[in-house]
Amino acid sequence: LTAVGDVPRHLFMDRGLEAYAYVDKAYPIAAEQTISQPYTVAFQSELIDVKAGDKVLEIGTGSGYQTAILKAMQLEIYTIERQRELFKKTQRLFTKLRLKPKKVVFGDGYLGLPESAPFNGIVVTAGAPDVPKLLLQQLAVGGHLVIPIGKDEQIMTRFTRKSENEFDKETFGMFRFVPMLKDKN
Ligand code: SAH
Repeated sequence: LTAVGDVPRHLFMDRGLEAYAYVDKAYPIAAEQTISQPYTVAFQSELIDVKAGDKVLEIGTGSGYQTAILKAMQLEIYTIERQRELFKKTQRLFTKLRLKPKKVVFGDGYLGLPESAPFNGIVVTAGAPDVPKLLLQQLAVGGHLVIPIGKDEQIMTRFTRKSENEFDKETFGMFRFVPMLKDKN
């Protein structure tokens, strides 16, 4: 995925960890969360299978790194973060970098963003114990929900909305994410 090379990852790393920005690993950010591994970001960003101009919802803004890659893919980005400290910090970073997602929301990603639905793609960047039904409902027909499902380890799963009531499900191997938690904090 070429967009990964367009985003200087060190800008999204915590102080003191910048030297590791180009190592293909996850690293700690604020609030006991992590900045995703570039390989995982590329993998998920390809799986949503969207084109320039499409509407994409990201659950788990975190450092903002994946948001920046989705922006580099010329998508219209809506992103939600449940952790207040991270939300504020990353919102400031977006302003500083003049990176303008369509909406940066402090909220619970389990609820999605019904007022902005439907989305061509939804990408969840935290491990979910099971599929949030509300997210499936917010997919456009033909759209994909890419979500790691599981507790300690997660199976990368892609749901495709075939019609109003039909969904396809595919799986893409094991990954390790921080947990998708309920409510805001
Ligand atoms: N895309 C981020 C990944 C951050 S890790 C990056 O590239 O840095 C996952 C993030 O999901 C964490 O910031 C965590 O707080 C957030 N998260 C967990 N559960 C959530 C929920 N229910 N709604 C929104 N964000 C959530």
